[in-house]
Amino acid sequence: MTTATETTTTVPILSGSWQHPRVERYNNVFNPSTGEIIARAPMCGPQEVDAAVQAALRAFKEWSNRPAPSRADVMFRYRALLNAHFDELAQLVTRENGKTLEEARGDVRRGIEVVEFACGIAHLLKGESLPQVANFIDGVTMREPLGVCAGITPFNFPAMVPMWMFPLAIACGNSFILKPSEKVPLSAVRLGELLLEAGLPEGVFNIVHGGKEVVDALCSHPGIASVSFVGSTKVARHVYGLACQHGKRVQAAGGAKNVLLVMPDADPDPTLNAIMGAAYGNAGQRCMAGSLLMGVGPIGDELRDRVVAAIDRLKLDDTSANSAAEMGPVIDGLAQERIRDMIGRGAEEGAQVVRDGRRGVPERGFFVGATLIDGVTPEMSLYSTEVFGPVLSMLRPKTLDEAIALLNRVPYGNGATIFTTNGASARQFTREIQAGMVGVNVGVPAPMALFPFSGWNQSFFGDLHVQGTEGVQFYTRQRVVLSRWDNTYRRTQGW
Ligand code: NAD
Repeated sequence: MTTATETTTTVPILSGSWQHPRVERYNNVFNPSTGEIIARAPMCGPQEVDAAVQAALRAFKEWSNRPAPSRADVMFRYRALLNAHFDELAQLVTRENGKTLEEARGDVRRGIEVVEFACGIAHLLKGESLPQVANFIDGVTMREPLGVCAGITPFNFPAMVPMWMFPLAIACGNSFILKPSEKVPLSAVRLGELLLEAGLPEGVFNIVHGGKEVVDALCSHPGIASVSFVGSTKVARHVYGLACQHGKRVQAAGGAKNVLLVMPDADPDPTLNAIMGAAYGNAGQRCMAGSLLMGVGPIGDELRDRVVAAIDRLKLDDTSANSAAEMGPVIDGLAQERIRDMIGRGAEEGAQVVRDGRRGVPERGFFVGATLIDGVTPEMSLYSTEVFGPVLSMLRPKTLDEAIALLNRVPYGNGATIFTTNGASARQFTREIQAGMVGVNVGVPAPMALFPFSGWNQSFFGDLHVQGTEGVQFYTRQRVVLSRWDNTYRRTQGW
């Protein structure tokens, strides 16, 4: 393993302006494909949070007062800049996260879609009105920004997940403080630089790097109006509790255990492609990753054999050096260890490891190969624990009813997909499954920017999700104005 040197880049924070704070601790940022340290992120604390809040509060007055079409202008320019720097951003995502270049392009593209949505903010912010709601009284609603909003994001989508949050928050007229994952701070910094280049006034967007200390300071600072969180369920629950306790509006998205259910009548080739993408795309480090595979009835053995053959064709490699790599490493050594342990535990609990990603991987970097584990039962840890790595667990229910009953015992509720050519099966699954994002022949039913990212159960705490009109509702509060203009008096005067 490499150690940080004097010349390792130290990532700046954005607190009104770009700064290098004096802190005691730094977090090493790795290229996960090689294990090399590529940068250091300052581990800030309450002091840096407070300075960013003050900068954001100063900026809020002028920014929130700007006409919405003028705020949209900044988003239009930002979108153009993101497109112009598309490849550079994708390469940066690959470098610090390890996903393939193609996956990194998807990461950036999905983020840009939210910026596109935010370009329509003038229309999205329009309220309702009812003239003559009572005699001489007209009623109107207005959507107004909250103030300073905070966003806390995970490592797995360094571009997309921050962009789930700040474009809409800012377009709504708020100022924003982003705390990106300390494992992937570089993409966030580049997104911030381009935002300033697009003409965003100083202080409207800020970045504070760090871990728990920064998160807890954001959740409890009196100057912050709302907290958006995306990460593991354990931390989501903590953030939700702490920020609610301090009177903030909160949306907290957590972990997941997503289901891929294959009916015997499913179209085999597209189904296999979708399964491979869902289970092993982004090395399984996706909150929408398919991690439980159910072949219903007689399809089980054939499905297993097809997945095994596809795993054997999958090219695992250094994504920063080989643009043809089809799967990259996991984020760091700790993740690698945790995933290997989960595979070992599955075997100890009686499941069969059909393809074992602990073996045959590159020496350098943090690789785990595509893993398939058959014979998993609801009593095993693999059934209900999120692995967050390239590990697919197989179950063999006999009927669709049995499969749905099994799936509804999983405590999470992000994604669930059915592969079938039968409308009645698809309809039953869609209506009965306990998940907020359902796919019919779609391996990763992650909604585009126009729709909410609608996790349920232990996958989400709060009521308004990120993205879509729910995002606009989250980042605004409504004012209702009743006006009485009574002309009776004027008439009595004969005017
Ligand atoms: P994580 O929960 O470890 O970290 C997320 C954020 O919380 C980071 O910014 C981190 O610095 C901070 N954090 C970590 N530990 C903390 C603590 N004890 N107290 C306060 N803050 C803390 O998650 P991760 O490993 O970065 O990302 C993977 C997780 O994110 C997976 O569980 C995945 O399913 C989830 N995820 C969910 C969604 C979704 O939409 N539901 C999307 C992407 C990722």
